[in-house]
Amino acid sequence: RPNVGKSRLVNRLAGRHAAIVHDTPGVTRDRQAIEVEFDGLSFRLIDTAGFEEAAIGSLAARMTGQTLTAIAEADALLFIIDARDGVTAGDEIIAQALRRSGKPVIFAANKCEGRTNLEEVYGLGLGEPIRLSAEHGIGMGELAEALEEHIPRTAPPPEDEDTAAEDGADETEDYDYPDKPLR
Ligand code: GDP
Repeated sequence: RPNVGKSRLVNRLAGRHAAIVHDTPGVTRDRQAIEVEFDGLSFRLIDTAGFEEAAIGSLAARMTGQTLTAIAEADALLFIIDARDGVTAGDEIIAQALRRSGKPVIFAANKCEGRTNLEEVYGLGLGEPIRLSAEHGIGMGELAEALEEHIPRTAPPPEDEDTAAEDGADETEDYDYPDKPLR
C-alpha cells in the first residue's frame, strides 16, 4: 500500500537516503533494489511500488508484473500496514496474495509511535505484527530478529540498548505464543 512508510523504512534500513519519500499517496515508483547492511545482516531489499487505494476492485488482478516478479524472487516478504489506519480492504487482498505465494511473510505495522488501530489485525491471518515506527526508529531490533531467520548473519549485531535489553529474556524462545500480548 502506498503511504505506509515503506520508503522511510528503506531509508532507515539502508542508513542513507536511498529511496524517495513521497507525501502523496499513489505516486508511481519503480521497483528499487537496494543492497542493505543492517544490524550485521547483508541482504538485498526490493522496494516495490505500492498499490493505489482507488483501484481496490482490481487490486488482485493488478498483482502482476514487477510485484509478482519481486515476490517470486524474494526469500522473504515484508508486508507493512499503517497502524494508525488499521486494516484496510486493500491490506486484506494483499495479505491473501502474500499468504498464497507460500513465501515467508514478515508482518509489520508502521507508525506505531502513537495511537494505533490494530484490533482487526489478526483477521489478516499473518499473526501479530512487529510494531514499528520508521520515523522514530522504534521496533528495529525486532525487525532485525525477524529478518535474521531468513538471512545468514555476516557480522555480530552492534551492541546497543535495544539488543542488550533482550539479553537474558530468551526463555520463551522455543514456544510460539499465538496470542502473545503487546510488548
Ligand atoms: P510509502 O509510500 O509506503 O513508501 O511511504 P513513505 O515512506 O513515502 O511515507 C509516507 C508518509 O508517512 C510520509 O509523510 C512519512 O513521513 C510518513 N511516515 C513514515 N513512517 C512514519 C512513522 O513511523 N510514523 C509516522 N507518524 N509517519 C511516518
